[in-house]
Amino acid sequence: NADAAMYRAKDGGRNNYQFYAREMNASGEENLILLDGLRQSLEATLAGAPGGGLSLCYQPKVDLKTGRVFGVEALLRWHHPEHGPVSPQRFIGLAEESGMIVELGEWALRTACRQNQAWRAAGLPPITVSVNVSPRQFEERKLVARVAAALRDSGLPPDALELEVTESLIMRDLAQSVAKMRDLEAMGVSLSIDDFGTGYSSLSALKSFPISRLKIDKSFVSELAANPDDQAIAMAVISLGHKLHLRVIAEGVETEEQCAFLRANDCDEMQGYLFSRPVPPARIAELLATAQQFVPAEVAA
Ligand code: C2E
Ligand code: MG
Ligand code: MG
Ligand code: MG
Repeated sequence: NADAAMYRAKDGGRNNYQFYAREMNASGEENLILLDGLRQSLEATLAGAPGGGLSLCYQPKVDLKTGRVFGVEALLRWHHPEHGPVSPQRFIGLAEESGMIVELGEWALRTACRQNQAWRAAGLPPITVSVNVSPRQFEERKLVARVAAALRDSGLPPDALELEVTESLIMRDLAQSVAKMRDLEAMGVSLSIDDFGTGYSSLSALKSFPISRLKIDKSFVSELAANPDDQAIAMAVISLGHKLHLRVIAEGVETEEQCAFLRANDCDEMQGYLFSRPVPPARIAELLATAQQFVPAEVAA
């Protein structure tokens, strides 16, 4: 489709998602309607309309040694005016395909930076905020400049921001990706590999990534208590991460058994329903204000 290709070539042009939408005939009218709703919500949210429909929830990340919340991950939420909440799996996939993710992601980045700076300004214990970056956003020429602008405009120190990227994203164009990651690192922003173990990256490539953290994918965590294969994978990722001087965090931790296994095997951090679901920003403020710590059942008992 020539139009779509032309607009794709106009790297980073604003409001170009209408054109990308033409590529999507195969995925059906329903998706186009949903995408249109998303565009309307994004415009309303950007215009500052109350109840624009888009928001960020934040999920605490807990240090397994100290029990402290050291950071949060920002996760997009979309409340459709008629259909109610739409799962991120669904709308982020559509936004990625259509190119709308560039603007959506920039809104998320700017909002998360502003929110974290607001918590700091309110005197809460300083934490980091992690923002997910999708392939299309990462490939965008202006990504580094956008991150710099989000930091400058919010006043958030760069070391209070982390970006979560996936292996498959990095491997699309390894040399380019590493160059971009180095620019971000030079700015003081840290990077983590999300869903680690589900993508493909060679160990020699991994060695060259300027990252500070590996996130063990939740698919390896869900059966961790009973499945020896998942246990082997988790232990291997933890030891690989540590040998490369990286922190290792497990995502999707729901049970005490999973948590106990991770602690016993020297995993550094965890994130999951066991401690907290993703929550609206006011709940994070509360949680930090009361200095809530994670006390595992083994210790509490
Ligand atoms: P992710 O970055 O791997 O985020 C972790 C997902 O696991 C989140 O799903 C979170 O709500 C969920 N989760 C956390 N703890 C648990 C648990 O204990 N058990 C289970 N079963 N799930 C848990 P969510 O919020 O639906 O987001 C799904 C994906 O959408 C994210 O996966 C991320 O790839 C993407 N996403 C979310 N927000 C953004 C965003 O602002 N930008 C981009 N580009 N992608 C985003
Ligand atoms: Mg993530
Ligand atoms: Mg993840
Ligand atoms: Mg995931």
